Amino acid sequence: MDSAFLQNIQKKYNLPNFRINQMQKAFFEQNISSYDKISTLSKSLRLQLANEKILSFSVHHLAASQDKNAYKAILRLHDNRLIETVLLNPKPGLWSCCISSQAGCALACTFCATGKLGFMRHLTSEEITDQVLFWRFFIEDKNLKAHLSNVVYMGMGEPLHNKQEVFASIDELTNPKTFRIGARHISVSTSGLVPAMYEFTDKFSQVNLAISLHAATDEERLKMMPINKAHPLRDLIQVVNYYLNKNNRKVFMEYILLKNENDRLQDAENLVKLYKNIEKKHLVHTNLIVYNQIDSHHCESSKAKAREFKEYLQTHGISVTIRKNLGRDIDGACGQLALKEMNTNPHIGRVDTP
Ligand code: SAH
Ligand code: SF4
Repeated sequence: MDSAFLQNIQKKYNLPNFRINQMQKAFFEQNISSYDKISTLSKSLRLQLANEKILSFSVHHLAASQDKNAYKAILRLHDNRLIETVLLNPKPGLWSCCISSQAGCALACTFCATGKLGFMRHLTSEEITDQVLFWRFFIEDKNLKAHLSNVVYMGMGEPLHNKQEVFASIDELTNPKTFRIGARHISVSTSGLVPAMYEFTDKFSQVNLAISLHAATDEERLKMMPINKAHPLRDLIQVVNYYLNKNNRKVFMEYILLKNENDRLQDAENLVKLYKNIEKKHLVHTNLIVYNQIDSHHCESSKAKAREFKEYLQTHGISVTIRKNLGRDIDGACGQLALKEMNTNPHIGRVDTP
């Protein structure tokens, strides 16, 4: 359900504008999740619309974390592909959802469960924004007394590999007639597709940008992120400078701490060196991420190492926090998405990267 969908409905049933406005209000302001419950529509119209879908997927599985601060939904798309989306409550009053942009991912980062799946397909803009609508309906339905304030593109897939649909989905999320989410409440995380990052910077000056950095030298980064071959750190830093100069907004660097790989003193030194090439360093915030163990050769750094790493960066004037992902007990945390479920669903096939 998005503005294009409503336009189609208008044409198909030859409806006047005010009917579409009523539906917009019901779905996007009042979080009403069925045609039947839209009391402003005539009964005959409600009956007519009863067979039209509202969300472009069905719910395959839903899980809540013990503390009820994280929910995960596995969604089944029309072609039986499965994707995941997560609703998180990082601090009181703030609810955020983490959405997928692709089924699987082509970029094969060695630490990431989605990367292990390979690429299946891009999601459409509607399939992307429907995840947000789904959580709004969920919050209403469960009476969570919450307001969904933030959307992060940190679920399955590389958003900038699916540029066209992801850009359309951001336009829809910020559309004042439908989702009405402020651009500053939306964040896109990328593993560093440099050319698309320039376009993103030009098009969405207010949307937050997070970069999966994870290593401070090309040599180390290449070992875990094959994308670094096409877009090495020099080019990545150049586009970061372009973003900072053009938009004058913070950039978030994501850095998973991996034992004896990127958590040593020399790695911290290299990171400080790398950042020397950034012109507006005060606008860069580094999130040190606790690794969510998946079936891989990587291991989580010790707490002591993480603290040392953080302190080294701090003493060198870098703004840094250690972030523990919520939703670990439901496999809902970043990088953990979908692999288990896919493995137990042999009919959900995998296709090769185009
Ligand atoms: N493809 C995009 C967005 C999805 S991944 C990207 O790579 O940025 C979202 C975040 O989760 C990224 O920062 C990614 O590096 C991180 N991540 C992946 N696997 C992880 C794992 N096993 N533990 C912790 N974070 C992980
Ligand atoms: Fe894809 Fe991001 Fe996972 Fe890398 S970390 S494989 S880019 S989803």
